[in-house]
Amino acid sequence: MTGPRVPGVLKGLATTARTALRPAHTSEYPDVPPDLPPRSRGVIALLEENCTSCMLCARECPDWCIHIDSHKETVPAPAPGGRERQRNVLDRFAIDFSLCMYCGICIEVCPFDALFWSPQFEYAETDIRDLLHEKERLGGWMASVPAPPALDERAAPPAEETAASRPARGGPRGGAGRTPPARPPRTVRPRVVESEDPS
Ligand code: SF4
Ligand code: SF4
Repeated sequence: MTGPRVPGVLKGLATTARTALRPAHTSEYPDVPPDLPPRSRGVIALLEENCTSCMLCARECPDWCIHIDSHKETVPAPAPGGRERQRNVLDRFAIDFSLCMYCGICIEVCPFDALFWSPQFEYAETDIRDLLHEKERLGGWMASVPAPPALDERAAPPAEETAASRPARGGPRGGAGRTPPARPPRTVRPRVVESEDPS
């Protein structure tokens, strides 16, 4: 064995003396709310107007804890002679947080940006059935969703902006106000005329 033999009780006292001088890291929740990172997974918020009832989130949820009901509605033609259209109307959207495992798949797969993480976590219930949040309650969580981070200055411009700056159909080619590049002069090849065989 190497080093001096120190009885365990002296080691313990030394550790106590060392840590007693350090500042405490006690979390004083609920008097002091925790400073959570902006991407904390507290609860899922629903932006109802963005939801098209496509069912993608409900199908991908590994826990089957998303419940969606909807019906079809006929939208009249916008102009005489036009076609009527059908659209889905959301009747029910609910997430059972007693089953949810906070994997975030539903938020990732939603093609219409209708679901968001909110860092709000204070929704514990004494009755497990109250953890089933209907769309009104899910919509209420939107107020606590943090604003998205600013775009990276060096990132490529958004596709929507690029598309909006393109000229309308029939306009000048190469973008508004831009002169198309000059073409290089065309090389004309001499034509070879084959003489007829006199034989
Ligand atoms: S976070 Fe995961 S488990 Fe929870 S509702 Fe979304 S897909 Fe389902
Ligand atoms: S939340 Fe998104 S993925 Fe789910 S039904 Fe609505 S639009 Fe579809």
